[in-house]
Amino acid sequence: MATNLTPPLDQAHAQLYCGICAANGNPGVMLIREMHLLKCPFSHQYSSVDEAIARGSTMVPLPLNERPPLTSVKWEVFIHPKVRDMLMQKYRGRLHATLDSMFGVLADGNVLVIEGKDAADMKKRGLSNGAQIISFINSTDSIQTENQQLRTRLEQFEQLLRAAGVSQ
Ligand SMILES: [Zn+2]
Repeated sequence: MATNLTPPLDQAHAQLYCGICAANGNPGVMLIREMHLLKCPFSHQYSSVDEAIARGSTMVPLPLNERPPLTSVKWEVFIHPKVRDMLMQKYRGRLHATLDSMFGVLADGNVLVIEGKDAADMKKRGLSNGAQIISFINSTDSIQTENQQLRTRLEQFEQLLRAAGVSQ
């Protein structure tokens, strides 16, 4: 399995951008811890993370450096650049792990691919994974069985009525 390795955080950095600077049109100014205070280079200060956030500070996004699994080998594949960009954006920080498991599923061969409009239709019906689809099929099966049983009983009842001369 892939591992997400993030570099150790610099304890002096609060991992927050200064909210006051951001409000002044200067986003991206990092807050530094100084004793119990959070300060920015422009002398804005906050007494706690909560106060900084209440005054508009936002979290510095963590860098996501994904390392492929040690047991994996590098393999060049051909892919449309747009698709690659979409994948890199969508699975940021877990792309190798995602592709690793997708390749595994494809190699296994026991795969059912549902995509595009069909997948959207299924999701609208609350079906977004294999277990939900199987349970939906099972419930449809049991409704059909029940329906058949009811029909059989109705026919038996009609025969009885006919025999008794109640109906034609
Ligand atoms: Zn500031």
